[in-house]
Amino acid sequence: MSADSELKVYGLTQDTSTNEYILVFDYKRNKCNGICANCNRYNTSSAWCRTCDPQNTAQGWTSGDKNVDDCIKEFQLKATSYEDVIEWIPFNRLDNIQKIGKGGFGTVFSATWLDGKRMLSDKYIASSTPSFIVALKTLPGSQENFLKEFKNFMQFRLMGSNLEVYGLTRNTTNNEYLMVFQYANRGSLHKFL
Ligand SMILES: [Zn+2]
Repeated sequence: MSADSELKVYGLTQDTSTNEYILVFDYKRNKCNGICANCNRYNTSSAWCRTCDPQNTAQGWTSGDKNVDDCIKEFQLKATSYEDVIEWIPFNRLDNIQKIGKGGFGTVFSATWLDGKRMLSDKYIASSTPSFIVALKTLPGSQENFLKEFKNFMQFRLMGSNLEVYGLTRNTTNNEYLMVFQYANRGSLHKFL
């Protein structure tokens, strides 16, 4: 735990009913990140309180499918910054969908995301960009398989791929799930086909 520089350890306590020892810690907080409206403490990163905001983000929406919700929530609860949060993106918030290519691992499209991606405004206020061009990729296979593929992709991103992932959506015409991610140039999108 001492290797995690995002944590500040205060000490140990003991639960007198079970005799279990409990480590007392909190995330590191900084004045320059602003104050959390929920717990009134300084945020852990700009406009983001790691204690309160992941919980808030994981509430108040549904994809209509519990397994998909759980998969997205798993990542939401681990988000360390506002901009890192992935979400369920209703298909009707995506416009101008155009096929870029098709291959053995799926079909890639470009689309305009009407809500824009999460971005902090000048004053470190949680906001989003204007409508924004994103890439969509089909996630074929059984639900278990495509959620596994999505998790692998998220893991790959955490391990150094700098492609941003914004979330999941479902094509309401054919019910196919799609991953929503950063629109890079066509050359780099083709490696996902
Ligand atoms: Zn808070």
